[in-house]
Amino acid sequence: MQADYQTLAEHYGTPLYVYDFDAMAANYRRLKEAFSGHKSLISYAVKANSNLSVVAHFARQGAGADCVSIGEVQRALTAGVDRYKIIFSGVGKRDDEIEIALREGILLINLESEAEMKRVEMIAKRLGKQARISIRVNPNVDAQTHPYISTGLHENKFGVEIDAAKRMYIYAKNSEHLDPIGIHFHIGSQLTDLAPLREATQIVADLVRSLHAIDVDIKFFDVGGGLGVVYRDETPIDVHAYADMITEAIRGMDLTIMCEPGRSMVANAGVLLTQVLYEKENGGKRFVIVDAAMNDLMRPTLYQAYHRIEYLGQNQEKATEADIVGPICESGDWFGKKVPMPPTEHNDLIAIHSAGAYGFTMASNYNTRGRAAEIALEGGTARLIRDRENFEDQIRLEKGYLNTPAEGYDDDT
Ligand SMILES: *Cc1c(COP(=O)(O)O)cnc(C)c1O
Repeated sequence: MQADYQTLAEHYGTPLYVYDFDAMAANYRRLKEAFSGHKSLISYAVKANSNLSVVAHFARQGAGADCVSIGEVQRALTAGVDRYKIIFSGVGKRDDEIEIALREGILLINLESEAEMKRVEMIAKRLGKQARISIRVNPNVDAQTHPYISTGLHENKFGVEIDAAKRMYIYAKNSEHLDPIGIHFHIGSQLTDLAPLREATQIVADLVRSLHAIDVDIKFFDVGGGLGVVYRDETPIDVHAYADMITEAIRGMDLTIMCEPGRSMVANAGVLLTQVLYEKENGGKRFVIVDAAMNDLMRPTLYQAYHRIEYLGQNQEKATEADIVGPICESGDWFGKKVPMPPTEHNDLIAIHSAGAYGFTMASNYNTRGRAAEIALEGGTARLIRDRENFEDQIRLEKGYLNTPAEGYDDDT
């Protein structure tokens, strides 16, 4: 594999995202099989890694798609995900997004507020449709994860409280244009403890029992995503314990279990390859400057996230500690601090591991840096699944600079 990295870096340049498609498929199968004996639908959370080839790869394994914008819904449809396996969540859906979702006939629109329900009803009425909906319940459970990725407490913006959810289900059941068939929760990401998930699952399962009792016919029980992965030394949740916990909580009810894993499907199937540009010392501190930057992988600076950094150059000398940093004009532009690293040479290759999730999808053009190319490895062969972004790509939507202010923008195209 490492020899491959060297060849890939030489052939496609760096920074370069490389994804192991076989590992992604294995991750999907492991989770799907944990639910065997029960109706289940695994909807891959597209935001973790939304490259069309990645989404298409999961679609070919039978996965659905969990989307948080109409753009993600369109990616899923374009990649060949079955429309009856697509679910659309998010606290702030626009009218045009709701309309497209209804026209496309996806499985579920996942509602996150009473106000949103009324808008979906109004739009469905205008289109002469009945909207299949689920409601995102906020079970007020502390997921014990980073505050930016904790979503299941009342203080977070997500979902609705149990009592509000009940009112909404009763309203929806009596509406000609709403068909409430799903329930949903998602309490956070990178979870490594089953207990908060169990607590949330039990709370929501009890709610389903009380809804069934008043003839609200919930069919889809969506437990969200959030399964944690190993970045350093975490102990991830065992998928069989997870599946057993859920089937136990909904015992006696005829429900399809839905699951929306993102990170656990792709994080450790991806690396970001980068090459050393320079070394320097400032005030006795050693810096290794590489050609990837925070615009390529934002997690370290955004969440103080740990990513294992591996030296793939030839130098066998003793490693000393160095900060691994990028070229961007921000002190937050770093990938690792006090990383053991032998003395490096210009162009030595470095792999930043666990970069398959929330890596490329959070990339930006900050400092007018083109976004990295992406490569898929499958069955021993490599293929380019996204071209490196060049300067022309970046300025394509800014051609108005050629106009004088008097002419204004040419928007009649
Ligand atoms: C982000 C998100 C997911 C995926 O979370 P992971 O931690 O990547 O598994 C699933 N469902 C919803 C609603 C989300 O917002």
